Amino acid sequence: MSDCLFCKIIAGEIPSSRVYEDELCYAFYDIDPQAPTHFLVIPKEHIGSCGEIGPENAAVVGHIFQVISRLAGELGMESFRVVSNCGEQAGQSVHHLHFHVLAGRDMTWPPG
Ligand code: 5GP
Ligand code: ZN
Repeated sequence: MSDCLFCKIIAGEIPSSRVYEDELCYAFYDIDPQAPTHFLVIPKEHIGSCGEIGPENAAVVGHIFQVISRLAGELGMESFRVVSNCGEQAGQSVHHLHFHVLAGRDMTWPPG
């Protein structure tokens, strides 16, 4: 999608600090980290949010969670949180599906 920030990051039009990449997804550090380790994992295919996941695109979500699990092991993250904000009230500011992966500090529950 031409006016999507994360599609531009995937295309390399906007620089980012890459954590991992394969044919289906891209992981990069958040520009405004909310924990000592905070990266985002996004599908390369443009999906607006969790609210747009259906039979036609659900496989990439399972793939992303496998990638998160592998990266957590490689980065030595024993405890971490995965968050996906869906919609304005939940705090979604970029309308391309993304999973925040946060680690390295105590997390509150319920989240604020
Ligand atoms: P949301 O608020 O939609 O759940 O998460 C969007 C995230 O994208 C935010 O945590 C924000 O800091 C991050 N972000 C916004 N613009 C950029 C950018 O240009 N580069 C990177 N690396 N992260 C960004
Ligand atoms: Zn996009």
